[in-house]
Amino acid sequence: LALPSGIAPGAAARLRRCASSSVSIPPPRCLLGPLEAPLRYMFGPGPSNVPPRILAAGGRPIIGHMHEEMFEIMDDIKQGIQYAFQTQNNMTIAASGSGHTAMECALFNCVEPGEPVLVAINGIWGERVAEIARRIGADVKTLVKTPGGYFTNEEIEQALAKHKPVLFFLTHGESSAGLVHPMDGIGDLCRKHNCLFLVDSVASLGGASLFMDKQNIDILYTGSQKALNGPPGTAPVSFNDRACKKMFSRKTKPVSYLLDMTHLSNYWGCDGKPERIYHHTGPVSGFFALRESLAILAEMGLENSWKLHKEVAEYLHEGLEGLGLKLFVQDKNLRLPCVTTIAIPVGYNWREITQYVMKHHRMEITGGLGPSVGMVLRVGLMGYNCSKTNADKVLVALGDALKHCHKSKV
Ligand code: PMP
Repeated sequence: LALPSGIAPGAAARLRRCASSSVSIPPPRCLLGPLEAPLRYMFGPGPSNVPPRILAAGGRPIIGHMHEEMFEIMDDIKQGIQYAFQTQNNMTIAASGSGHTAMECALFNCVEPGEPVLVAINGIWGERVAEIARRIGADVKTLVKTPGGYFTNEEIEQALAKHKPVLFFLTHGESSAGLVHPMDGIGDLCRKHNCLFLVDSVASLGGASLFMDKQNIDILYTGSQKALNGPPGTAPVSFNDRACKKMFSRKTKPVSYLLDMTHLSNYWGCDGKPERIYHHTGPVSGFFALRESLAILAEMGLENSWKLHKEVAEYLHEGLEGLGLKLFVQDKNLRLPCVTTIAIPVGYNWREITQYVMKHHRMEITGGLGPSVGMVLRVGLMGYNCSKTNADKVLVALGDALKHCHKSKV
């Protein structure tokens, strides 16, 4: 038997023994070698590099998902999310899964089949939400702009008046377009038109100012892996009293058992009941890591974090323009500090650029996503990665790519 190099001691013998054993499927050879996960600069739209402190927290010994200490950790996480979201909402949890899980948790619980939902689409995330809402039988109406566009409060109000939705969705940090959407006044419009305001802050939380309570956001969610620098796999989400009223007076049960907030609210100790009952096994290590991410944000302070992201983004933007590159979002105030979009330089193939920086600089930057594919390159410097030193690394890598990647193959 020819064995791959680096095979674990004893594995060769095990592989050979298999010929005479009762199992007909042998252990996969790939698993008999060591895990390979290279060190990379994760300077795309996420996930970001995870600092050693958070990695160490995630590597602590496992405890039970129903142990007293775990409930205390979950309570700490809840308070950390309340701080990061700037909310006093009791119904604040972290869903077990990626940002999409929180997105589905919000929609599955707050929308019933046949109900009208209004979705603002100015990149991939509105498209995704519209798709999920259609799958649960909602009557989906859309407000659409090309990537980089934003919606005025007048446009939003007209659409609310026309469609009378039960819920309006907007992305705060549109990571596919690099746009941070203005938030003021929209929550008030939703209240006026008796609809819930659902906001996606996966790519903006911690990097751009957002005030759930003050801005009258009814449901807000994010992910662990961007400015929070956690490993992917946990997703904070919070519901205010208006949202709770709607989701706990449903006529139909939510389509997902896993994401049913009647159960999750108990698991997270938000339902006022003295006892928490088993619902699912939460990602214990992921919760350890998330607690550490939120602790780092609490130590740094939200305002300092917003300021740092703005300063580093502006520094990066100047440097990119210095290389002769054009930023995709023209209006400086609408540029998302966490994820910068660069118009693909004329005559270059974007894939060649991203492949070049990966190969020669061990750096992830990406192309567009969904409707922005072929329009932009995306650079994300979030949380732990957000520094001028890292911005310099990006500028060196991109400058190098511009010199070496062939022009004219578009
Ligand atoms: N919303 C936004 C704005 C995002 O940037 C992302 C992740 N790129 C998501 C939602 C989905 O998150 P996840 O990939 O963790 O499911």
